[in-house]
Amino acid sequence: MSVAQQIINFGGNIRFTPERLYTPSSDAEVLTILDRHAHGKIRVVGSLHAWSPLVPSDEALVDLRHFDRVEVDRDADGVVWATVGGGCKIKHLLRKLHRMSDSTIPSLGLITEQTIAGAISTATHGSGKQSLSHYMAELRVAAYDANGRAHIYTWNDGSELRAARCALGCMGIILSVKFRCVPKYEIAEIVQPCATIDEVLAGEEEFPLQQFYLGPHLWSYFAQRRVATAEFHPRRSLSAKLYRAYWFFGIDVGLHLVIKTLTMLPAGWIRFFYRHVLAKVVLMNVRFVDHSERMLVMEHELFKHLEIEIFVPARHVRAAAAFVEDVLKVFDGDGPTPLTLQSIGMADELEKLRGTFTHHYPITFRRVLHDDALIAMSSGDEPYYAISFITYVEPRKPFFAMASFLAHSMARLFDARPHWGKYFPLDHADVERVYPNLSQFRAICRRVDPYGVFCNAFTDRVLFGIE
Ligand SMILES: Cc1cc2nc3c(=O)[nH]c(=O)nc-3n(C[C@H](O)[C@H](O)[C@H](O)COP(=O)(O)OP(=O)(O)OC[C@H]3O[C@@H](n4cnc5c(N)ncnc54)[C@H](O)[C@@H]3O)c2cc1C
Repeated sequence: MSVAQQIINFGGNIRFTPERLYTPSSDAEVLTILDRHAHGKIRVVGSLHAWSPLVPSDEALVDLRHFDRVEVDRDADGVVWATVGGGCKIKHLLRKLHRMSDSTIPSLGLITEQTIAGAISTATHGSGKQSLSHYMAELRVAAYDANGRAHIYTWNDGSELRAARCALGCMGIILSVKFRCVPKYEIAEIVQPCATIDEVLAGEEEFPLQQFYLGPHLWSYFAQRRVATAEFHPRRSLSAKLYRAYWFFGIDVGLHLVIKTLTMLPAGWIRFFYRHVLAKVVLMNVRFVDHSERMLVMEHELFKHLEIEIFVPARHVRAAAAFVEDVLKVFDGDGPTPLTLQSIGMADELEKLRGTFTHHYPITFRRVLHDDALIAMSSGDEPYYAISFITYVEPRKPFFAMASFLAHSMARLFDARPHWGKYFPLDHADVERVYPNLSQFRAICRRVDPYGVFCNAFTDRVLFGIE
């Protein structure tokens, strides 16, 4: 146990100092911590990649860095199952899993820095599959029994499992997770320009893992067409290695440095860059094949930034994309206020914000299939599109105004849900409306945490409506 150490998240927007920081290395130590703080407050920390204030705790903070074991079993049908300590980072999980088996994890986000428990706690996702949470078959969680005594639960079925798959740390401390692995696979990728969203979506059947970008100020798309190939080659080709080098130096480092530099200049520079330069410097219309864990990720953690990601049901994606374009134009001081805003009484609010922010980063769209979880962003019975807005500019007040406007207006127009782990401006009433299973989730939380030990100010406010 250590005391009074300031904790800062990746985005630098969350800072706090817990009274006690624990780094337990056994189940028994975790239970002792829970009993010690049974009438206080406990939060768990992963690798601090969430931008929303999920981790802050004034009292106890628990870091599961020592819970990083990876065990692999093959069942009678030859299916490979992984049991992974909650504090294991995804990059370490991948390395160990690939050393021990010919399998990999079923779903991947853009980076692999998160812990497995942190990633599932906010339904971390990539494109074309469900979020990682959905695939969790069993969770071992330290929480409380009905009398408020520390207890370890194993959930592998029913509503507890569906709640715990994405629980924002409110159902206790995830000690380990168990999930079914998939055989290692390769991805074929080709980047193509598309004039319209219809053109992008027309490729979805052929490229089910695709993600796509709307270029701000250009207002047309780039589709990163992706499909899993039929065969797997353990040895990576030279072209795959060269393509990764291109991504690292050209996109992860080069493009991001250019964008960061342009944001320091008058706004005309960033507009010029998207309208006249970007399409000429991105490698397009060439097909590359590489292992999934290399093709699906990037080094997005190299430069500090902040993100909001807004999920809209698939049936609304075209209207939502058009709406985003119109709203961002107004924020940039251009174009009329979208008429649809009158129906929700937000047109005047947008007019007041006209010309206050020039967006400077490609807007990413990822399709997330519906999660079998109570409150994951894509819970429900249809796929969602996650639309992401990133800023490299500080101070962030003008970006926050844009993000907040988008989140509130899109929640009302499209039943949109912001990512729990990213900038999260919605209040309880909006959350309650867009998550029909919220009351069931809350009841389960109360069963395993009768005194609300695992809640903090943010979760109290957005989930429980307690200010
Ligand atoms: C550069 C970058 C790229 C990203 N890319 C993606 C992406 O592609 N897709 C996507 O969906 N998200 C993405 N995210 C968001 C990120 O995946 C989530 O915020 C994730 O929750 C962070 O995991 P973490 O280990 O850092 O957890 P933290 O940020 O430390 O914690 C997040 C939540 O998990 C809880 N938690 C952590 N460990 C436990 C545990 N053992 N038991 C119970 N609760 C626990 C915490 O209490 C908290 O509520 C990205 C974030 C960054 C900074």
